[in-house]
Amino acid sequence: MSLARRVEELLEPGGRLAGRWPRYEEREVQRRLAGDIAATIEHGGVLLAEAPTGVGKSLAYLLPAVLSALATERRVVIATCTRSLQDQLYERDLPALLESLDLHLPCACLKGKQNYVCPRALELTEGRGAEEDEVLEQLRRWAAGDEEGDLDRFVPADAEAMRRVRGRVGADPAACTIVTCRRGRECSWVRARRLAAQARIVV
Ligand code: SF4
Repeated sequence: MSLARRVEELLEPGGRLAGRWPRYEEREVQRRLAGDIAATIEHGGVLLAEAPTGVGKSLAYLLPAVLSALATERRVVIATCTRSLQDQLYERDLPALLESLDLHLPCACLKGKQNYVCPRALELTEGRGAEEDEVLEQLRRWAAGDEEGDLDRFVPADAEAMRRVRGRVGADPAACTIVTCRRGRECSWVRARRLAAQARIVV
């Protein structure tokens, strides 16, 4: 059975996802979009699709992505325009879909490099004033216990001071010396890349 047909069947009223996907609604447009995405994944080519809010686009592309990653040796990459959508897919929609289908698949979230704390920069950065000193101290405590090092997850006591400091403590693509860096073992960005290399689905 083609990937497109499998996807459409799963999304049909009375289909597997109807009973198990927490936010299931019968949506003809969603089914068609998911079928088109599945056919493009299966046969190659480029699909440009636009759909308004309420169609259920996330499920329409996650479902064929998951089934394709399972059926082939290929890694599927889902790129988003915003980091909030990236977090939503990785933290909520993808786990819910895998659970609905009783599937286990290694997944990873990989953000732009500057979104990870750089242990070297964090050690060397000095605050410009008491507020920055305070947020740097808070950051150091957080980074010591959070191996993901995703700066989006850090909740600062002073958001404005954090906004000023963020660019100085994140991994800097221009300054990163990964080949000679002695902090590679504790570097969250290096870890995120390693996990992405092992994953079948990368958001
Ligand atoms: S490899 Fe080193 S310099 Fe590059 S982001 Fe990681 S800790 Fe920073």
